[in-house]
Amino acid sequence: MPQLVWFRNDLRVADNPALVAACQSGEAVEACFFVTPDQWQSHDLSPARAALMLDHVEALGQRLAGLGIPLHIVEVADFEASLSTLETLVRDQSINTVHINEEYGVNERRRDKAAHQRLQASGVTLHKYRDQTVAPVGAVLTGQDQPYSVFTPFSRRWWDWVEQNHPQTLAIPAPHNARLAAPPRPATPNGFGDAPPALVRTGEDAAHDALQAFLEERGARYKEDRDFPAVDGTSLLSPYLASGILSGRQCLQAGLDALRQQPDATGIRTWLNEICWRDFYVNILYHFPRVSMHRAFKPETEALTWNDAGETLTAWQEGRTGIPIVDAAMRQLRQTGWMHNRLRMVAAMFLSKNLFLDWRLGEAWFMRNLADGYLASNNGGWQWSASTGTDAAPYFRVFNPATQSERFDPRGDFIRQYVPELRDLDNKRIHNPAAGGTVPKGYVRPIVDLKSSRKEAIARFQALKD
Ligand code: FAD
Repeated sequence: MPQLVWFRNDLRVADNPALVAACQSGEAVEACFFVTPDQWQSHDLSPARAALMLDHVEALGQRLAGLGIPLHIVEVADFEASLSTLETLVRDQSINTVHINEEYGVNERRRDKAAHQRLQASGVTLHKYRDQTVAPVGAVLTGQDQPYSVFTPFSRRWWDWVEQNHPQTLAIPAPHNARLAAPPRPATPNGFGDAPPALVRTGEDAAHDALQAFLEERGARYKEDRDFPAVDGTSLLSPYLASGILSGRQCLQAGLDALRQQPDATGIRTWLNEICWRDFYVNILYHFPRVSMHRAFKPETEALTWNDAGETLTAWQEGRTGIPIVDAAMRQLRQTGWMHNRLRMVAAMFLSKNLFLDWRLGEAWFMRNLADGYLASNNGGWQWSASTGTDAAPYFRVFNPATQSERFDPRGDFIRQYVPELRDLDNKRIHNPAAGGTVPKGYVRPIVDLKSSRKEAIARFQALKD
């Protein structure tokens, strides 16, 4: 009897455990994807990420059509509605087994639990696969079988796991049937039309080309270049990883292959450690579901009284804080749907420490704008920056954005790209334009004093302990 692959956050045909399992059954295979705009809205999914997903659903439909597998694309309101549509599809196509790759947000887990119950009631089996991470979620545990909450020991164990298990990627299944006509690109739902230009090229092949190009051309220098936003030093693969167009295992395998060819390229090893960070945060989401319910990982920090949002939040969102590196970062986010990692930390610390605004406001704003918005990493990054999270920055180590700017954008090239009002300032003043008394026309004075706000933030965290 036919098998159904329910695609969600795994928009690829290569290295896809659910697809491979369905194809190995020897039965006819069908596939489905549900566009769920109300759910997306409630998860703060950005138009940039929605556009990327819809482009890749179209690309997936074409790849599946080439394998003789029809992809049913249906727009429904939300997860709840998707379950009823799933039941109808299963009934109409006489499906007896549904295959899914697991997702770990709390709503996704509830949806999958309900799907399991409802399918079981009609005699249909649901098979689940652990696909989001390199080491299956839950496989990297302490000696006492407990989850790690600190990255360094997690990463040691993760590397041990990799060395012992040699995770392999799965091949694209052989064509199952004669080529079919591919479905058209799903329509963009209301509310998701306002996306910036596409950040990356569409398709799995484009993702693999980008991965190879990064490893061959920039991987070796990653360690030196990764912190400089004006340098093209990172992979820009996050949009592909966030929507499962590329898997962590594919990155690992390509990285290890590249290391075999260029054993001195220590940058590649550093880069693979970032893939490990990604696994770490997915594990945190899995073991500590509270972090996906707007709760702090460190419960005691729930007692902090954050400042009232309002104009300061808007100024931060729009890149009008008077702190050039923060403004450049926030404008990069809005204009491109991406922000450099160093700047994500700087902008997040500025919001949660200097402005002392609730990190959840920043987390949501990032999700609403990022093409690579990924709950586990975004939440992890925000809680790290706000010192409320697992293995977070200690509360007393507050980045000074002006110093970060001098260090990581020394000539002000990145600032000049996004804050043209400051283009004519010299390389020193561009980091702190108000230091000269007046600020250039069109720019603003800092909305907060960096020194006193830093002290105040530390005092508020300290008060939690007292
Ligand atoms: P590279 O440096 O080339 O790294 C390769 C891959 O490793 C990335 O694509 C990503 O999948 C993973 N990775 C890298 N750094 C981290 C990290 N610190 N934590 C977890 N995974 C990492 N990443 C997201 O994918 N989605 C988010 O929504 C997101 N929000 C963030 C919010 C904040 C406040 C912070 C501090 C970080 C956030 N990150 C997020 C992590 C990181 O900034 C991005 O993954 C990275 O900038 C993506 O660019 P890249 O692909 O060029 O990364």
